[in-house]
Amino acid sequence: MPVLVMKFGGTSVATLDKIKRAAKRVGREVANGYDVIVVVSAMSGETNKLVGYVNETSPMYDAREYDAIVSSGENVTAGLMALTLQEMDVPARSWQGWQVPLKTTSAHGAARIEEIPTDNITAKFGEGMKVAVVAGFQGISPEGRITTLGRGGSDTTAVAFAAAFDAERCDIYTDVDGVYTTDPRIESKARKMDKIAFEEMLELASLGAKVLQTRSVELAMRYSVKLRVLSSFEEYDPNAGTLICAEEEIMENKPVSGIAASREEAKMTLVSVADRPGIAAAIFGPLADAGINVDMIVQNISDNGETDMTFSCPTDQVARAKSALDAAKEKGAVQFAELLCDPDVAKISLVGIGMRSQSGVAAKMFDVLSKEGINLKVIATSEIKISVLVDRKYTELAVQSLHDAFELDKV
Ligand code: ADP
Ligand code: ASP
Ligand code: MG
Repeated sequence: MPVLVMKFGGTSVATLDKIKRAAKRVGREVANGYDVIVVVSAMSGETNKLVGYVNETSPMYDAREYDAIVSSGENVTAGLMALTLQEMDVPARSWQGWQVPLKTTSAHGAARIEEIPTDNITAKFGEGMKVAVVAGFQGISPEGRITTLGRGGSDTTAVAFAAAFDAERCDIYTDVDGVYTTDPRIESKARKMDKIAFEEMLELASLGAKVLQTRSVELAMRYSVKLRVLSSFEEYDPNAGTLICAEEEIMENKPVSGIAASREEAKMTLVSVADRPGIAAAIFGPLADAGINVDMIVQNISDNGETDMTFSCPTDQVARAKSALDAAKEKGAVQFAELLCDPDVAKISLVGIGMRSQSGVAAKMFDVLSKEGINLKVIATSEIKISVLVDRKYTELAVQSLHDAFELDKV
């Protein structure tokens, strides 16, 4: 039997009624002749609640216990989905990550999938089971402890299963009917795309478009998984949604395809660090050891043998970053006069493979933002993206004015 992977995000399993609705879609694909692997998220809001419990109990928490706690939301929905399917006379069984076992690294909170043995689930399909319901987001480390794959990680669970089982397609059911030119919650004129290239989706995801977890796009690209994003609330339509595909399959050649916004950014500056070989390693080594996801880095012009070093990182990692840098200072590994923190910034990014061949995109972006009176705090570019850090209060204004200026509402 061909295998189909169907992933349902938090809003699609938020209530028992919604689980029933999702189960009906699964039942339809079983009737179409598929063995189905269903990957479920926790009920909407549940993971945030669990993360809140952890932070309240222990702000500098042990990441192994964080994973034990925040992975539990998916256990509930996996069991409920299996029960709902059984009530519909569809033979189904649930699997937690460790039962598969979905083997990961020991990087708690951001573990990477290493292997998914297929024998357990394949044997059950052989015995007549039609649906394997897998709890998304979770796995097991070599030490035998529960791990999680980072926020939004159920997308990655789904794509990894599609690759391991050589599935015909991986359908990501969510609360929007596809991938848009920007977050439709920020810009009502955002346009749904029928197709988007892996490279562009990868950039949009890593720059803050949370419709897909970055790692899921990476895996789909590497293993050529046919990946589709579609709504779990709309009527069934076999051609619905957005297909993430190879660049060659896309006809559009606009310089900018999409805009991403990430609100959870902070900017930190080490004032007056020595401008000498090894200083960047002395700063970013301890930050890496503390698990800080440093993003943009800017080093200012040197003056009197000293320079300022600025970097951005996720807002919720500021406390950890501060304590890692203070500890490095105390040990004498790095000296700085002051550590400044601007916790209220957002990153706005333009993405498009057309940028490779068309110039002037950055200049136009800066012009548009300057006309709105928006100051740029940090700028970074790569082959197919331009990102700027701005005050968080300008997020909507920046996205909407850029969406207009680059005419992303038009095909
Ligand atoms: P799920 O719970 O199903 O995993 P998420 O909340 O993680 O859903 O992702 C879906 C959300 O992603 C949408 O509600 C939308 O607000 C947001 N989003 C951000 N950027 C985009 C985009 N470019 N296209 C579509 N949705 C986007
Ligand atoms: N429940 C997890 C989260 O909210 C994983 C997911 O939904 O993909 O991040
Ligand atoms: Mg998600």
